[in-house]
Amino acid sequence: MTECRRCTEKVDREFRYCPWCGAPLRIKVTELFGGTDGKALRVSRYFGHEEQEPVVRMSVWSEELGRHLRAEAAVSLTEEEAERLARFLDEVPAPDEAQTL
Ligand SMILES: [Zn+2]
Repeated sequence: MTECRRCTEKVDREFRYCPWCGAPLRIKVTELFGGTDGKALRVSRYFGHEEQEPVVRMSVWSEELGRHLRAEAAVSLTEEEAERLARFLDEVPAPDEAQTL
């Protein structure tokens, strides 16, 4: 168990966001999205705190033969651009829907 910094409720550590007030419980969350070509997209979301601005960092990873994943390129998006990206992905119709139009 941990304590939410905003509302001070006790929260299970596996939560990313406080179930009581919605505040992020971690400074950073990361997801790895598998690509179709053996590469992967890693998205790290750094939540702002005190003087640090929130930022979304995206990096392209590839697996070298017999080695671990390695970052090829990275870009950092402001919170505004990350929200624009989320809206862009949200607006695109699912492939099944697109085929029936
Ligand atoms: Zn809370």
